[in-house]
Amino acid sequence: MASPKIEAVVRERHRMAECPVWEEETGRLVYVDINARKVCRWSPLSGEVQTVGLRNRVGCVGLCREGTYVVAAGTCLGFLDWGTQEARWVARLDTDKPHNRFNDGKVDPAGRFVAGTMPEASAPGEWQRGQGSLYSLQPDGSVARRLHGLGISNGLDWSLDHRTFYHVDSLEYCVRAYDYDTHTGGIGNPRLLCRLAQGQGMPDGLCVDATGKLWVACIDGGRVVCLDPETGTLLRTVAMPVSRVTSCCFGGPSFADLYVTSAADGLGPEQLLQEPQAGHVFKVSGLGVCGRAPHCFPC
Ligand code: ZN
Repeated sequence: MASPKIEAVVRERHRMAECPVWEEETGRLVYVDINARKVCRWSPLSGEVQTVGLRNRVGCVGLCREGTYVVAAGTCLGFLDWGTQEARWVARLDTDKPHNRFNDGKVDPAGRFVAGTMPEASAPGEWQRGQGSLYSLQPDGSVARRLHGLGISNGLDWSLDHRTFYHVDSLEYCVRAYDYDTHTGGIGNPRLLCRLAQGQGMPDGLCVDATGKLWVACIDGGRVVCLDPETGTLLRTVAMPVSRVTSCCFGGPSFADLYVTSAADGLGPEQLLQEPQAGHVFKVSGLGVCGRAPHCFPC
């Protein structure tokens, strides 16, 4: 198998770039910088990065119609109008947990925006357990809580037949599979798909490719791993030039490239010298596999 080519395409030191989504209509990569409280979008044609700043940490972004995005920031879900740079919040969750914030999210095959929460670390690397939940914002504006008692709700995606939901709880180092009901948005029957060994880092963002396999970013593991969706077996490892690998999505022409985000926050000055590309966004090409177009929230 030919080794893939890894190229830093957005050479900016993002604090915590996350949640990449390929916007096919415009040929742009949309993502967030959680700690910089920004939604970003990058055009490979112009090389330009545009940003919109929000008041709170922004955990994730999903596509609506062009120029409008569904976002989760702080403990709120809402919509961002890129033209006016205004956010309109429609729901506030976890109101009983003042230290929580939204983390990763994605639009499901039926157009719900599914996003999870996590507590902020009380000290570096220390989180209170069981504080996170997973919510879905339905196209009619209502919100349902789907999972609770999570550690750090993180990467998520659906199987090719939409009947299985994959979800990462980073604090448990695990990727779980659940039954998914696309008609109701209901999630049930959890089973452990894979628990990462400590040396592999923490599982973070993930995506499913066009053959159904999972690609999981391993933060502090410096890699993206490809897992078998049935057995959780490690199929491939893509070693990245940075340790804090946060998330990935397929994009570009035919969704043939894997875009990988990373973080600089959490690294000390010495480590930053050793990892000059920390926080950059990378393109991995030549993997020999394609992804699927992301779903859109109908708004
Ligand atoms: Zn994440």
